Amino acid sequence: MIVLSPDSLNEIYARHPGWYPAIANPQSAPVFIDGLADIMAQFDLILLDSYGVLCRGSTPIEGAAEAIQQLRANNIPFCVVSNDTLTNRSVAAEKYQSRGFDFTADEVLTSLDITEQYLQGLTNHNRIGVIAPLEHPSNHLLEGMVRLNGCNGEIPENIATLLFLTGAGWTAKMQENMVTTANGRQFELLVGNPDIGAPHGDHVTATPGYFIADLVEQTIQKAKPVLFGKPDPVIFSMAIKQHQITDPCRVLMVGDTLYTDILGGNAMGFKTLLLQCGVYQNEDIMEVIASTGISPHYVAPGL
Ligand SMILES: [Mg+2]
Repeated sequence: MIVLSPDSLNEIYARHPGWYPAIANPQSAPVFIDGLADIMAQFDLILLDSYGVLCRGSTPIEGAAEAIQQLRANNIPFCVVSNDTLTNRSVAAEKYQSRGFDFTADEVLTSLDITEQYLQGLTNHNRIGVIAPLEHPSNHLLEGMVRLNGCNGEIPENIATLLFLTGAGWTAKMQENMVTTANGRQFELLVGNPDIGAPHGDHVTATPGYFIADLVEQTIQKAKPVLFGKPDPVIFSMAIKQHQITDPCRVLMVGDTLYTDILGGNAMGFKTLLLQCGVYQNEDIMEVIASTGISPHYVAPGL
């Protein structure tokens, strides 16, 4: 596990603006509201981030399950859109049910679903090195690829593509070995989970977005990473296509992270709601907005 300081998250995102959609902020300053119920009737679809919005780790956030029930009672469609590369939608519903949420499989979309779609079209598996634990729900699609976790992070000579799937089991030593063996070489870079870090209590653990930023900064990789999760448009497009949405203004993206949920939602032309119960819970929210230059339409303490 690699531990990061909470302040370093936004600094690392800010060093790689070319990896993300351009900033498309609302025309006016954010409006402070009490919660989702204040605005939900204006939307045809509500997209919800998971960590920092519905739960913290595996613990549900107070009021989140009730907010979902309110959406159901008012017949407002919603979908959880999560940068989760350990769970695809077919098993995600079960995971959320154990946390007190009654989602069905088509109410959840994860970056693993997007990654799996990409992997289905791939050939030449033996040229791909993967960062993922040996036990993984997508194992049938990863067959023939080299597991860097099984090589203590060292990249074999024949590898041309690196797929950063999940940080589970990935150690600081593996990261160091990967960077050392990548020196002087160039790779195609695929990122299943673009998040830089995941909050756990009062610290932040590094996730694949960090591993790739560290690799690129230390070995000067030239390829623009291909992202399979927020803020990239692909995951949002799949969610609105599924709900046959034609007017993006009638979609609300709810999240706790400016660089993934809010930047990505604004770029799609959605309205965006930033919650203060996640990654920025101990920070002055207007200061974070000013320092990142990314602004939501609404801010609320929680769902
Ligand atoms: Mg989050």
